[in-house]
Amino acid sequence: MFNNLSEKLDKALHVLKGHGSITEVNVAETLKEVRRALLDADVNFKIAKEFTNKVKQKALGQNVLTSLQPGQLMVKIVKDELTELMGGDAEGLNLSATPSVILMSGLQGSGKTTFSGKLANFLKNKKTKKPLLVACDVYRPAAIDQLHVVGDQINVEVFSDKGNQDPVAIAQAGIAHAKANGHNIVIIDTAGRLAVDEAMMTEISNIHKAIQPQETLFVVDSMTGQDAVNTAKAFNDILNFDGVILTKLDGDTRGGAAISIKSVVNKPIKFIGTGEKMEAIDVFYPSRMADRILGMGDVVSLVERAQEQFDEEEARKLQKKIAKNQFGFDDFLKQIQQIKKMGNMKDLVGMIPGAGKMMKDIDIDDDAFKGIEAIIHSMTPKERSQPAIINASRKKRIGKGSGTSVQEVNQLLKQFNQMSKMMKMMQGGGGKRMMQAMKN
Ligand code: GDP
Repeated sequence: MFNNLSEKLDKALHVLKGHGSITEVNVAETLKEVRRALLDADVNFKIAKEFTNKVKQKALGQNVLTSLQPGQLMVKIVKDELTELMGGDAEGLNLSATPSVILMSGLQGSGKTTFSGKLANFLKNKKTKKPLLVACDVYRPAAIDQLHVVGDQINVEVFSDKGNQDPVAIAQAGIAHAKANGHNIVIIDTAGRLAVDEAMMTEISNIHKAIQPQETLFVVDSMTGQDAVNTAKAFNDILNFDGVILTKLDGDTRGGAAISIKSVVNKPIKFIGTGEKMEAIDVFYPSRMADRILGMGDVVSLVERAQEQFDEEEARKLQKKIAKNQFGFDDFLKQIQQIKKMGNMKDLVGMIPGAGKMMKDIDIDDDAFKGIEAIIHSMTPKERSQPAIINASRKKRIGKGSGTSVQEVNQLLKQFNQMSKMMKMMQGGGGKRMMQAMKN
């Protein structure tokens, strides 16, 4: 996420981070570099200029040059301004009505249908929410089918009416269906076009007027940069929407949309999409995003994601197994599956402070575990529970079965042994201490 921008900002702030003396000249030079980095990331020219001006004002106001740690203070000012630019505090959804109706708007391909599913899943996992998805794209039957596929995946009911050509009527019927069937959330997926056009705007505006949703969300593909901002403006003029959803932040996006959109439409970014899977959704926290952009990582989100996947019952069972020396490859597989559920690997690594920069040239494959999984799947149940019995001939068989070499099997066994030993050591409370330290 935002690798290029992070790298450039890091370079720009290098001098200030203690690698040289700080003078008025190099503060000015730094701000010029910061502005250039923002422009390269496709941030609007005016916004970039205002940004550096504000940083300069603040730096003067706080007497940065004569402060004890001028570099750190400057970096903090940049971070605070970046946070402010992206929205200050995180803003949630207004879900006070029953049912609460959420209307999705945006261009075709922006990720509306996918996000509708992600949001339904996100709210469903909150236990008190029972969402209904409503398919209002009357032009593309495939879009209705797509929403049904998504609904099946996450076990959320989808309301549709394939022959009906009136999206307003479908939306209203969907809400009535929700009321009659105890759904307290209605998410309405609408039709988009490839570009802003009058017919689409009239249609979404009619739906909006007729159903008066609690939340109108504008979904936008972050890869479209400046265009994203222009489209947001067009939709906001018509809908006066409540929040923005930035999708595809897992891609090679330059970051311009994330940074500019708030100040152009003055509406908060509420969620981000970070992948095609239903779990790839995050609440947008401006300050955490600023940390990530400035290469400071995002440990809070990382721990939160781990906690979401964390199953206490499973953890207790695992602890017992470790204590009794019964931790086997089946348990190892389960651990890998849990990690995979946390999101794509590159994204996870990016949340570790400093790691994003260190690993930027390393291609972290999402299938990084594939070889390991293949090796484990080629083991017999007995070998998985008692790895000690794996001798040379078994290694040969496992290698053959998994399409790997004996060397790779050996390597995995070695890593597994080291990990088992480490887990045993952490049993004495070290693990808990480690988690505690991360939270503080
Ligand atoms: P819609 O036309 O606005 O409903 O867009 P879709 O939901 O059909 O999404 C268009 C394409 O973008 C699909 O191939 C999705 O899988 C993909 N997509 C949606 N959100 C994300 C995301 O956050 N990350 C990535 N990488 N792909 C996404």
